[in-house]
Amino acid sequence: MEIKLAETLGYCPGVKRALDTAFKLLARRSGDVFSHGELIHNPPTLELLARKGLKPWRGEGRGTVIIRAHGLPPGEIAALKALGLTVSDATCPRVRLVQTLAAEEAGRGRLVIIWGQADHPEVIGLLGHAGGRGRVIAGPKETEGLPRAEAVLLVAQTTQDQSLWSEVAEAVKARWPEALIKNTICEATVTRQNQVRDLVEKAEALVVVGGRTSGNTRRLADLGLAAGRRTFLAETGADLLPRDFQNLKSVAVAAGASTSNWQIAQVIQTLKAMARGHSRKFWPRLMRALVLSSIFAAFGLAALALGTGRLLGAEPPATIFSFFFFLTVALHLTRDLLQSRDQTLRLADPDRTAFFAKYRRSLVWCAAGGFALSILAGVLTAGASGGLMAPAFSGSGLNWLPLAGILAVLAHHYAPRPEKPALSRALAKPAILGLSWGAAMLWAARPGLEGLSATVRVAPGLALFAGGLIFAHIFILTIFNDILGVRGDRVFGRPTLPSSLSGPALRRFLYFFLAAWAFGLALAASGPVPPALAFLMFCTGPLYNLPLVRRLSPGPGRKHAADLDLPDYRLEALLFGQLPAAGLILWQWS
Ligand code: SF4
Repeated sequence: MEIKLAETLGYCPGVKRALDTAFKLLARRSGDVFSHGELIHNPPTLELLARKGLKPWRGEGRGTVIIRAHGLPPGEIAALKALGLTVSDATCPRVRLVQTLAAEEAGRGRLVIIWGQADHPEVIGLLGHAGGRGRVIAGPKETEGLPRAEAVLLVAQTTQDQSLWSEVAEAVKARWPEALIKNTICEATVTRQNQVRDLVEKAEALVVVGGRTSGNTRRLADLGLAAGRRTFLAETGADLLPRDFQNLKSVAVAAGASTSNWQIAQVIQTLKAMARGHSRKFWPRLMRALVLSSIFAAFGLAALALGTGRLLGAEPPATIFSFFFFLTVALHLTRDLLQSRDQTLRLADPDRTAFFAKYRRSLVWCAAGGFALSILAGVLTAGASGGLMAPAFSGSGLNWLPLAGILAVLAHHYAPRPEKPALSRALAKPAILGLSWGAAMLWAARPGLEGLSATVRVAPGLALFAGGLIFAHIFILTIFNDILGVRGDRVFGRPTLPSSLSGPALRRFLYFFLAAWAFGLALAASGPVPPALAFLMFCTGPLYNLPLVRRLSPGPGRKHAADLDLPDYRLEALLFGQLPAAGLILWQWS
């Protein structure tokens, strides 16, 4: 079954802004935070917000009240302020434009006609801004019932169906030829509707992801029904039944403006799992198992450690490979087993959660076995006299680095989170991981009591080159991983670079990082490293990652907004593929 995605998926700018406001206020944890009405028409996201502490405003309490993207009548905002509450206005700028227009034209004496749902909060807000001069119509026929007026303004609720606008505008013009007609249907709505119209031509069924109470989501579903396609409205993957998709060759996926990326990703994952279940292909299943169990990542890191050791002149035995392989499997599996119990991850990444639920017992044994085998390999590598951790406690202060790195990573994950600038915390994670893996691999190149300090002393230029190389690979892989994984979503409140920087800023940062990496390799080529080796490292480093930055970071080159959260196991394999490639070249060269 082919899954065709609409080009525009994910939150519209207004909803995204309102959610960002809410998450920032909740992260501050300074007093109660209320939402005036449902912040967005999306129950799973509302559930997550409630878990984070967002309360519905019921007329009592002290703290901050968020005005949602739909806006509020001015009288209600004034009443909130009069109660001593702090008002955080997250009205969408596009809605505010319509409110301003309605207020100005009502002030000039025009009758303000609003085409929309009379009980919709946005329309109620517009009526408030129009003072007593606003009237709501549900369709063209209702213009006849409007009161007499010298001059009128026609506006639309921002999420109305674009294809019906001209009928409404004609009906108003027929009665008031001089009417001021302003099509205020939002571009985000129009784009989504046009894309769905195109998409249903090419697919046998349509799945619209979004809240059932969301008007714009329902209107997208109506387009599928009008085109005669089997249409499903899904809030989460659990709303889809495998039997409905059994004989379909293609299904289109679209989403409402208030649908989160992780919800879309979850529904797409469910559809992909159905498609995989139907096809029962061996290789994709094997790939998924290798990626989810971290065996693929472990192989890459171990290969890089082996190549680094050989470059630095040590004759690394197979135990170095085993040490890093088993250590990575153990660390990653422990992290993933703990995270798979998280309710939010359960909602956001059902495929990963299902994998860990199904094989939990075996994976726990694998993690425990991984720790035991890595200790054994470490002892064999460092020598029985040195033991595994002895090098960290002896010799120069440099030997503390691997241990300090591991402690810093643990502290970063588990320490309570005081309020700090998010960007510095977001940068800390890839930097700490890059430094600690780099130090650990250099340490392993000179096992024994002297460890890392001996490596740096014996081959300073090469050690700097190898350490920088490992740092760069781990740093960019960590950021890619955060982009791919739901762990980086603002919803989960974990500061990562993708959740702290805007899309274009993230892309610029990654390009700058690749340029700095290439510059570092050029410097190395004029120093201790043969130019040919530096060139090959350029091919498996900055050059290899260039298309991945284009593919993953938001910007003109990225097709789908939901790619931010889509777990694609082939893509994960491609990301980690750079590690064995670099390790193999280092091994061969040395
Ligand atoms: S659909 Fe348009 S007007 Fe409505 S909240 Fe989103 S961006 Fe704003």
